[in-house]
Amino acid sequence: MTTWKIGGPAETAYWPETKEDLSTVWQRAQEAGVPVWLIGQGSNLLLPDEGLPGVTVVTTYLRRVEWGEYTVQVEAGYSLARLAQEAGERGFSGLEFARGIPGSVGGAVMMNAGAHGGTMASHIMNVTALWADGTVKKVEKAELEFAYRFCSLRGHAWVLEVELEFSPGDRRQILEAMKEHLTKRALNQPLEKPSAGSVFRNPPGDSAGRLIEAAGWKGRSIGGAQVSTKHANFIVNTGNAKAMDVLALMEGIQKDVQVKFGISLQSEVAYLQLEVNKHTLFHPKEIEG
Ligand SMILES: Cc1cc2nc3c(=O)[nH]c(=O)nc-3n(C[C@H](O)[C@H](O)[C@H](O)COP(=O)(O)OP(=O)(O)OC[C@H]3O[C@@H](n4cnc5c(N)ncnc54)[C@H](O)[C@@H]3O)c2cc1C
Repeated sequence: MTTWKIGGPAETAYWPETKEDLSTVWQRAQEAGVPVWLIGQGSNLLLPDEGLPGVTVVTTYLRRVEWGEYTVQVEAGYSLARLAQEAGERGFSGLEFARGIPGSVGGAVMMNAGAHGGTMASHIMNVTALWADGTVKKVEKAELEFAYRFCSLRGHAWVLEVELEFSPGDRRQILEAMKEHLTKRALNQPLEKPSAGSVFRNPPGDSAGRLIEAAGWKGRSIGGAQVSTKHANFIVNTGNAKAMDVLALMEGIQKDVQVKFGISLQSEVAYLQLEVNKHTLFHPKEIEG
């Protein structure tokens, strides 16, 4: 269930088909004291080799979509790349940047996904979310904070649905821009091997890939995990990588870049840990750096 193809089995996996269904699962898991995790397309996730206890809720069947006049109301599990393509075909401009990002809409809101100068946050009007106390509430964009790969809902709520806005554009130009972005990605990214995209956030004014390469890590492997020879900020699974292999590479890179350049690289991928307590019951704890 992850693009890295790493991680043990989920004890139970559940694919809700409606927002109400998802809320009910959350409520019942809370009542039963069972840990519950949420994943979208698993394209920014490292799962533990031991697997996940409790219930893993996968949003990919939450895919109702309703187009308006240069707007769209879309559920969390819808494919972001597909939404971008469909917007382009309507002559709706804004999501050109997102055509090559392999996540769900909910994951993209939570990560404030971005590329080629565009971000999700620029197009969000409002978000309907399930909060930790079990309530479902719509929040306007002005009530939320977004930054580089950050949304203030993280750790507090699950995205159920979002309304996005576009500007009028020329269909041909939009689709052409998307094609160019896809070509660029195919040239610069190791798309033929399982990965989770960029592993580290770019530090201000620099690029994580440049620093990793300069520190001598490009192409290095631990177990089945390898720092891509094509793009040093990607770690690829060469066949049988374990989460521990990826974590060991990440740790080695972080230490070395810190020593050589005095820069502390922060993780962009989310790592779901197994320690379960009241806080992590709702949201996975993540390794930040
Ligand atoms: C080849 C490749 C290229 C990539 N390129 C880019 C890029 O250019 N730009 C970029 O920003 N990212 C990129 N990514 C990373 C990834 O695609 C994005 O971060 C994406 O938005 C994650 O969405 P997801 O559904 O896969 O989330 P997941 O990986 O399933 O989850 C990521 C985190 O979000 C949480 N989450 C998921 N859905 C929800 C929800 N509905 N509500 C609350 N929390 C939720 C999960 O619990 C987890 O903590 C790339 C990945 C790959 C594999």
